[in-house]
Amino acid sequence: MRIGVDLGGTKIEGVVLNGNQVVARLRVATPQGNYAATLDAVSALVDALEQQTGQRALPLGLGHPGSIDPHSGLLRNANSVCLNGRALKQDLEARLDRPLALANDANCLALSELYDGAARGLQSAFLVILGTGVGGAVVANGQLQQGFNGLGGEWGHNPLPWVTKQELPGTACWCGQHGCLETWLSGPALSLLHANAGGIAGDARAIVAQAEQGDAIARASLEAYSHRLARALAAVINLLDPQIIVLAGGLSQVRTLYHDVPALWSRWVFADQVQTPLVPAVHGDASGALGAARLGIEC
Ligand SMILES: [Zn+2]
Repeated sequence: MRIGVDLGGTKIEGVVLNGNQVVARLRVATPQGNYAATLDAVSALVDALEQQTGQRALPLGLGHPGSIDPHSGLLRNANSVCLNGRALKQDLEARLDRPLALANDANCLALSELYDGAARGLQSAFLVILGTGVGGAVVANGQLQQGFNGLGGEWGHNPLPWVTKQELPGTACWCGQHGCLETWLSGPALSLLHANAGGIAGDARAIVAQAEQGDAIARASLEAYSHRLARALAAVINLLDPQIIVLAGGLSQVRTLYHDVPALWSRWVFADQVQTPLVPAVHGDASGALGAARLGIEC
């Protein structure tokens, strides 16, 4: 058996795999802005999963936002900024009294979807998390590309391409830049843009429900979101031209994206025809935790 934990900005999800079978699963809310409380929450989640299975000290992999600086060993670039500058691996290893395999959350998603999900058997893929933050992972030659600087797929802090005059100057991003993709395409970004347009405040699910009930502002917010995602992914297709693009994270549940975005992206892709499939992660929300459980076997 192996444990996988996906440490997200909103939730911490844990699974226990026995071979390929999920034998336990738990989800808790992520403590906001508190590093010590986050370590406590991960530790309590692992204890609870082990109690469910009657096992102790199981091998453990963890997916996290941002990346570990290969020089300092400290976490950087996490949108849960309380994690930045921390020795997350060492601190959790001390708490849990075992070695840990850590990887970026989008890279865990890629491992899971490569193993038995949407990218299984493919040579190339781009995988996207549209959640509290926005991240990506690159698969080439059938393998995850972590990159020379450990930055492979870090796409959420590139600027929105083909930006319109109305979109300028964009919003300040926590990373210090302005108008990053994350400030347009994350769940909180969609909620904020919708509220600023005069819409009824709510998360992505609420905005979809409003649109389905005929709310014109909600429809316009989702159309603007699809347009921006189409531009962002057209730039990826022009650079990598992957065999598939896979969406995960809370916004991947917005079903209209899979029709609307490919219908729009041809305008910016440098070809007459674009065949690239846009699909949701086969394992949905659990994909990150499943990939984390396979860290150490797959990497
Ligand atoms: Zn940024």
